[in-house]
Amino acid sequence: MEVVEDRGARFCQCRKLRKQSGQFESVRLPRRYDGFHFTNYRPQTPLQEAAFKFASSFTMEYPAVDRGLLLMGSVGVGKTHLAVSILKGLTERGFKCLFYDFASLLKEIQDSYNPNTFASELSVLMPVLKTDVLVLDELGASKPTDWVRDTMAHIINTRYNDKKVTIFTTNYLDERRNDREEVLEDRIGTRLRSRLYEMCKTVVMDGKDYRRNLDRSHAEARA
Ligand code: ADP
Repeated sequence: MEVVEDRGARFCQCRKLRKQSGQFESVRLPRRYDGFHFTNYRPQTPLQEAAFKFASSFTMEYPAVDRGLLLMGSVGVGKTHLAVSILKGLTERGFKCLFYDFASLLKEIQDSYNPNTFASELSVLMPVLKTDVLVLDELGASKPTDWVRDTMAHIINTRYNDKKVTIFTTNYLDERRNDREEVLEDRIGTRLRSRLYEMCKTVVMDGKDYRRNLDRSHAEARA
C-alpha cells in the first residue's frame, strides 16, 4: 500500500515537472535555470532584499507596470535568478515570455545571415520583438561593435515603441570605480543607456558572488 502511494506521489511529481518544463519550453529557459524560483531566493543584503521586492511586485502587478527592469550588479549576486523567477511567474499567469542571453541572441541573428542555415533573421527577431515580456540576460557581454549596437538599438527601440516590457540584467555598473573598469555606457553606447533610463527602473544589487556560498556548502556536505 505504502509503495503504491509512494509511486503515485512520484508519478504526480514527475507529471508536474514535465508539465512545468513544457510550459517553459517556449520561454527558451536553459535547463540549468530549472531551480531558480522566488521561493528559494535568499536575499543577503538590503539591496538584494529591495530587488527581490521589486521583482515580486513586478510579477504580481504586470501588465499594470509602466517600465521594465534593469537588474545591475556584479557577477553572482542573483540577477538572473530574479529575472528567471519573474518570467516563470508571468508564464504561469498566461503571459508570453522569452528568455535570451545577450551573446546568444546576437549569435543567432548573425548565424541567420548564413545562407546554409534555415533560420531567417526575421524568424529569430520576430518573437524577440513580439513577446509580451523579454529577458535579455547579460546585456553588454558581447564586444561592442557598431553592428552589435545597431542591432540592440533596433530591438530595444522597437519594443519600446510598441510599449513592450523588457527586463535586462547586466554585470556592468554605471559608476566607474577605477580608470580601467568599463561601465555599461562603454558597452552599449550613450544613447542606448539613456533609452534604458526611460524604459526601465534600474535596480542595483550588491553582495558577494553567491556561487561561493554554494561551493562552500557543497564542500561541507562532502566533508
Ligand atoms: P548573476 O546573474 O547576478 O551573475 P545568478 O542569478 O546567476 O547571478 O546566481 C548565481 C548562482 O547563485 C545561481 O545558482 C543562483 O541560483 C544562486 N543565487 C544567487 N543569489 C542567490 C540568492 N540570494 N538566493 C539563492 N540563490 C542565489
